[in-house]
Parts: sequence; structure tokens; C-alpha cells
Amino acid sequence: MEIKVLKDILSANDQIAQENRQLLDSNGVFTVNVMSSPGAGKTSLILETIRRLKGAVQIGVIEGDISSSIDAETIGKEGVPVIQINTGGECHLDASMTYRALSNLPLQDIELLFIENVGNLICTAEFAIGAHKNLVISSTPEGFDKPLKYPLMFTVADIVLINKIDLLPHVNFDTDAYKKTVKNLNESVEIFEVSCTTGQGIDRWLSWLQNQLRNR
Ligand code: MG
Ligand code: ZN
Repeated sequence: MEIKVLKDILSANDQIAQENRQLLDSNGVFTVNVMSSPGAGKTSLILETIRRLKGAVQIGVIEGDISSSIDAETIGKEGVPVIQINTGGECHLDASMTYRALSNLPLQDIELLFIENVGNLICTAEFAIGAHKNLVISSTPEGFDKPLKYPLMFTVADIVLINKIDLLPHVNFDTDAYKKTVKNLNESVEIFEVSCTTGQGIDRWLSWLQNQLRNR
């Protein structure tokens, strides 16, 4: 019984996610769902991307958080449209929360939309929200075993960023082992190594993004 209820919830969610996708497509908005554990660098990556693409690409942001609006305030200072979703304790965004946020954004003025999901490697992967690409960020201090522990997250990922590579000399992170595990789960995923602190590797991420925007 419980299994059936869960299936119904998930398929209703998928339906709304599809409608979100149509809304985004009809406005020409390329959308990235940004997922990671807390503190891996979702907000830092979005900020760094906004700073580098300012003037070239019109960016909007949806910030998902359980209760605070700290990240939305930080992003808002960059002068881009940002909508905060407080999930009210829910540990993931779903398609209808996302729809409400989309309805409050000037979509016709946005080319690239980041949706910062709640910091959580588990159920955020289970709920489609209508984004074109799923981005998963791992940071080197978290250790390299996360793809083994949370395989679904890496299975739904289109692109994986290893963040905080400037800390590699100080932490136990085996980059090759990590990449191998991710590729075993998901052969087609692209993996980039970056540091939002030093800027290392960010150019490659930006050129991936700009390529996606061109082929929108
Ligand atoms: Mg954040
Ligand atoms: Zn959840």
C-alpha cells in the first residue's frame, strides 16, 4: 500500500516536472539543478559563475533551503533575479515548489537558470523538477567514497564537479578512485575538477555551460 502511494506521488511530481520543462523551453531558459551535500560549494559555484558571465549571459537563480535565506541574500547582491524557496522542513525541492518559484521569475529575461537544491545527497535525486541538466558537486574534504554511499545521486547526474581541489594536498581524496566509481555508475557523465577559491578549472566548466547555451 505504502509503495503504491509513493509511486503516485512520484508520478504526479513527474507530470509537474514535465510542465516546468515546457515552461522553461518556451521561454528559452536553460536550467541546471545543482545538488550536493551541505557545504560542498553550490552557492560558491553559482556566485563564481555569475561573476564570470555577467554581461554575457542573463542568469537567474532559485535558492532552495529548509528555512534560511542566507544564500538567496548573497546571490541577490550580484544583481540577478533570485527567488527563495523555503521548503518548510522538506529535505528536497519538488516540481510544484519549483513551479511556484518559476511563476515569480522574469523567465523571458533569463537565459540560464540555476536551481540550488537543498543540501542533501539522498532524496534530492529522487524528485525531478524539470531542469535540463543535473549537476552534482562533490568537495574533496568530504572524502572520495560518496558515489559508493549515494549511488542514485551519481546515476542521475549529467555533470559532476569535484570542488575544492586546492585542498587536495591536505585531505584524503583519491581523485582517480572517485572518478572510476562515478564512471562505473554512469558512463556518460562529465567530470570536471574545480576550485571556486582559486578559480582553477572554472574555465572548463564555463565553456561546457556556454556550449549548452549555444545548443539550447
Ligand atoms: Mg548554498
Ligand atoms: Zn527529501
